[in-house]
Amino acid sequence: MIPVQGYAGQTVAVLGLGRSGRATAAALQEGGAHPVVWDDSAVAREAAHDAGFDLRDLTKPGAFAGVALLVVSPGIPHLYPAPNPVIAAAWDAQVPVDNDIGLFFKSFATEDWESFDTMPRVIAVTGSNGKSTTAALIHHILVENGRPAQLAGNIGRGVLDIEPAHDGEVVVLELSSYQTDLARHITPDVAVFTNLSPDHLDRHAGLGGYFAAKRRLFAEGGPDRAIIGVDEAEGRYMANQLSEGPGDDRVIRISSGQKLAGEGWNVFARKGFLAEHRKGRQVGSIDLRAVGGLPGAHNHQNACAAYAACRTLGLGPKGIEAAMQSYPGLPHRSQVVAVRDGVSFVNDSKATNVDSAAKALAAFPKIRWICGGLQKEGGLDGLLPHLGHVSKAYVIGREAADFARQLTGAEAEVCGTMAIAVAKAVAEAEAGEVVLLAPAAASFDQYDSFERRGEDFIRCVTDAIG
Ligand code: ADP
Repeated sequence: MIPVQGYAGQTVAVLGLGRSGRATAAALQEGGAHPVVWDDSAVAREAAHDAGFDLRDLTKPGAFAGVALLVVSPGIPHLYPAPNPVIAAAWDAQVPVDNDIGLFFKSFATEDWESFDTMPRVIAVTGSNGKSTTAALIHHILVENGRPAQLAGNIGRGVLDIEPAHDGEVVVLELSSYQTDLARHITPDVAVFTNLSPDHLDRHAGLGGYFAAKRRLFAEGGPDRAIIGVDEAEGRYMANQLSEGPGDDRVIRISSGQKLAGEGWNVFARKGFLAEHRKGRQVGSIDLRAVGGLPGAHNHQNACAAYAACRTLGLGPKGIEAAMQSYPGLPHRSQVVAVRDGVSFVNDSKATNVDSAAKALAAFPKIRWICGGLQKEGGLDGLLPHLGHVSKAYVIGREAADFARQLTGAEAEVCGTMAIAVAKAVAEAEAGEVVLLAPAAASFDQYDSFERRGEDFIRCVTDAIG
């Protein structure tokens, strides 16, 4: 646990008692603060009470009397579409609002670091897609190369739940836009921005607000190194703004698909090969086609980002390449769950938006595609250029008929449930094809989470192929 510094003897309110909220309350207590906690859910409140925390109804008038700080969980809207009433009450009471990420950056460095040979470092990863994969891949490469490392944030453990740093340790954080938007301190040593596409627009009042939230990772004087995906205008703009000139190697530009020709430090993947260029010369390369855990151009973008992050810490290309070969992948992201009679079954349940599903469609040439669910804003047009790879779509979810209607140019059958979709796809798939779950939609119309949806897919595949 990372004891929270700066609030000893003070009362700090915690709103939201999920994984990160509970870890925050414990870390506040460890640092000598007095946490008072609240959650809308009675079950969550009872669990916190049983764990020994003091409850305070933060929805009541006067709840913020004597409170130094309010810490909120990422799932709670702090501004759009409307501020949570407790947060609005904290503003009125002039109580600062923060989250666990802000407290982490405030508290991570301690006095005993003075005796360390190598300062601990924090690598923070954000972007619309590929954050978990990139963060997990960086962590895997570091560990395989003998560097002590911990993985936390949106993936793995809550940030305040990790162990205090050892000499030379690297903490890899995956940060969502909700987290970067609210944190009062964000000072990573290395910051990674994978890409940008519309998502969570209601929470950020549009694309501009969403991009602004992610950019905060690169503000406050900036990280020592900024690794930036330049395949969208937003990334090119930010890389340009952060660099002092053409050869400034504080900024590392990454791309999947483009050859980056500038004088600076560039890492890009084309036709399955990763190349690292510095001052116009190639200094490293990897054949990504041989890396089974990272299929498709989108994963090659993640590989470029992870490669660049590890290079900033002094790892060599060969050590990085060897570790990539053994990367096992994450569940629900390009996860091969079975292969039978030349047909592969791939679970990409985490493809919850159009952009990520489009990338999954681009990664395989012949696809029996299971898709559908709760649609996000912006329609399905982004999928249409990739339908050439689709032999047939099997559409699930409550809005399946409407979803199927929008897939002009592909054969689409309304199946409704996962079990029906998988059974039909299995019956019709031919050798060389991939049965791919990449829904391009949220799961909440039929499941509690994308994980449950992916697990159902795996169960249905196992049932169908025996
Ligand atoms: P995040 O943590 O940002 O949601 P993940 O690594 O969990 O990202 O991947 C989520 C989904 O997004 C994957 O299932 C895959 O379909 C897609 N994806 C992964 N990496 C990328 C990328 N670099 N660009 C676009 N889509 C991606």
